[in-house]
Amino acid sequence: MDRFLIVFIIIVSYIVLLFILRYLEIGAKKESSAWSNCCPDCSLALNRVQRLYKDKIVYNITLRIFEYKRYRCKACGWEGLRWGKNYKSGKSKKK
Ligand SMILES: [Zn+2]
Repeated sequence: MDRFLIVFIIIVSYIVLLFILRYLEIGAKKESSAWSNCCPDCSLALNRVQRLYKDKIVYNITLRIFEYKRYRCKACGWEGLRWGKNYKSGKSKKK
């Protein structure tokens, strides 16, 4: 079989997989009635922490379709990457 075709199929399936992850909101911010972004373990508010070098790699290999940010939970110590669902609409002004 053509090697180029195999590589092409792998790339296309990877892109499809990323959009499935986005559609299923895997790794997205979790919302509660009290917080717009809360801990997946204990549902308390998360704090922004500085991104690590590996986070930038993850951001790039996922074709930058997820706006990842690193968060930490003060209550239980959970730390990880979350991405926001409302893509680039955070700065919209209310009239
Ligand atoms: Zn927590």
